[in-house]
Amino acid sequence: MTALAIDLGGSHAACALVRDGCIVAGKGIPADGNTGLGGLLPAINETLFELMRTAKVDRAQCSAVVLGFPGIAVARENRVVATNAKFDDAPNLDLTALFKEAFGLPFFIENDARLALLGESAFGAARGAQDAVMVTLGSGIGGAAMLNGRLIESKHGLAGTIGGHLPVAFNGRQCTCGSLGCAESEGSTTFLPVVYREQPGAAGGALADRKAIGFAELFEAAEAGDKPAIAALDHCMHAWEVLAVGLIHAYDPEVVVFGGSVMKREAEILPRLQKYVAAHAWTPNRTVPLRTAVLGSNAALLGALPLVEYSL
Ligand SMILES: [Zn+2]
Repeated sequence: MTALAIDLGGSHAACALVRDGCIVAGKGIPADGNTGLGGLLPAINETLFELMRTAKVDRAQCSAVVLGFPGIAVARENRVVATNAKFDDAPNLDLTALFKEAFGLPFFIENDARLALLGESAFGAARGAQDAVMVTLGSGIGGAAMLNGRLIESKHGLAGTIGGHLPVAFNGRQCTCGSLGCAESEGSTTFLPVVYREQPGAAGGALADRKAIGFAELFEAAEAGDKPAIAALDHCMHAWEVLAVGLIHAYDPEVVVFGGSVMKREAEILPRLQKYVAAHAWTPNRTVPLRTAVLGSNAALLGALPLVEYSL
C-alpha cells in the first residue's frame, strides 16, 4: 500500500510518499506555525505532486493522504479541535474537502506523536506489539497510547494523547496546560531553567544565567560535577520514571518506547527507568520493557501506513 504523508512541525513540514514501511520519496519544506496552515497547503500539495512525479507513482496508486498535526485532532471526525500556538487556523479548515479536491483521495488526520507511535509499532522499536505506549521527551513531553493495534480514540480526542500531562508530582509546579505537576512541567526542556534554579546551589551553578537549557547541556554540566545540574537531571529522570509507571498502570502496554534526542543518552536513562518500573509498576509476573525509539523523524510519516490500513 502506498500513501502520501505529511508530518507538520512548527518550522518544517516533512512530506513523503510511503510504501511498505519505507519512505519512497521525501522532501521537507519550510513552515511557519504562526502564519497558519491554510496558506501552506498549496506548497504541501505541490511538494506531494512533485514526489509522485519523482517516484513515478500515479495518484491512483495511492490509497490516502495522511496529515500528522502538532495539536489535538479528533480522528473519528477528521478535524483539529485544539492547537497550541501552532497553525491556529486549522480547526476552521475543512481539511478533508481541501485534500480531496487536490488529490481525489481519502484523507486522515492524526496527532503527530500518536502517528509516531503507530510508526514505531509497525516498523520500529515496538514492532509486533498490539498494546504500546510512547513517550517523546523534548521541549514538551508527548505521550501516546495504542491498544489492540489501534490508537485509542475518544470523542474529544484526548484519550491516549496527552500522556505527557499525567500528573507526576503531588504539589508540583504549574504547567502550561493548566494542571499542576505534569510530567511535562517537571521534566521537559521548556521547564529546565526553572527546575535548575530550584536546586540547592543553583545561583552559583554553571547554568544559572541560562534562559534555555537543553538536556545535552544538562548531562554535560552534570558530568562536569555541577551539583544543581546533577540534581535537576535527577528531578527530570524521576519525572520520567514516575510517568512510565503511570502510563503502564493506565494502558497495560507490552512495551514503552522513549523518543526524543535526549535518548542519545539511553545508556544513562533506560537502566534507571527500567529499574524503577520493575520495582514500582504493578504488572504481575512480568516487567514491561522500555525501549528507545528507532525511527526518529520518520516515525510519524511511516505511521501513516498502519493508520490508513485500519481506517480505510
Ligand atoms: Zn500539563
